[in-house]
Amino acid sequence: PSEYVGFATLPNQVHRKSVKKGFDFTLMVSGESGLGKSTLVNSLFLTDLYKDRNLLNAEERITQTVEITKHTVDIEEKGVKLKLTIVDTPGFGDAVNNTECWKSVADYIDQQFEQYFRDESGLNRKNIQDNRVHCCLYFISPFGHGLRPLDVEFMKALHEKVNIVPVLAKADTLTPAEVKKKKIKIREEIEQYGIKIYQFPDCDSDEDEDFKQQDQELKESIPFAVIGSNTVVEAKGKRVRGRLYPWGIVEVENPAHCDFVKLRNMLVRTHMQDLKDVTRETHYENYRAHCIQSMTR
Ligand code: GDP
Ligand code: MG
Repeated sequence: PSEYVGFATLPNQVHRKSVKKGFDFTLMVSGESGLGKSTLVNSLFLTDLYKDRNLLNAEERITQTVEITKHTVDIEEKGVKLKLTIVDTPGFGDAVNNTECWKSVADYIDQQFEQYFRDESGLNRKNIQDNRVHCCLYFISPFGHGLRPLDVEFMKALHEKVNIVPVLAKADTLTPAEVKKKKIKIREEIEQYGIKIYQFPDCDSDEDEDFKQQDQELKESIPFAVIGSNTVVEAKGKRVRGRLYPWGIVEVENPAHCDFVKLRNMLVRTHMQDLKDVTRETHYENYRAHCIQSMTR
């Protein structure tokens, strides 16, 4: 596994002050049960979620998520600190009645806004603990034909509250051609159903061509095809995080195998600040305006 998560390689958008103070970022995962949510967040930040680096046993430690759980890790890379909070949600799909399965997740997001709103209006505004959710990775099943009705319902219930980044789960169960087809289908359906997922900001016209191409590639990666694994396997003499099959090894961090690295770079390097800005300027502002409106009525 690569040694670094990557946030210490600072993007120019980031100010010196935040470098000194460190960053904080809250990431939520949601979607149907069994799609690999817990596994993926553990893979994404494994270097630090498991301090003892006992990778081989990590897989066994993941148990089914039955309630919303919050897990905070402090990561330090090259002297830069990141306080990362993972909000893991119980999957839906198991229950007989899945109507409003998104309710507890939506409530959780609102509660964090409410807390922030109260603290912000209080006397001690200097040291507010900010628990607002900056991004929600929404897991889409690789076994369906595009989106399921529940996916549509869920994302629409959340899209005004949080930055949704859709991911295509367990991409190792699909061929590259299938992945490509499903991505296109899902992007079309997102558009068709009016789901407002997180939009990567358009790059400035004076950016160089390399940058523009990267940006375009990122937009075309949606939904990110991901593979999660917490086991280390040996591939070509190197120890890598992957999944072992009779026909070979699927490597989590190999860009030819899935979008894992692209997703992680996007989250903690290139777009972390924008995800936070949109949370504050759009989602939180909506919430706040709504609160103030109902107070003055
Ligand atoms: P969650 O309910 O969404 O949190 O799913 P889990 O992370 O608990 O994973 C459910 C099962 O799927 C476990 O047995 C994992 O080992 C397996 N799994 C997780 N990620 C992947 C993946 O990318 N590909 C495959 N094939 N299996 C996976
Ligand atoms: Mg889970």
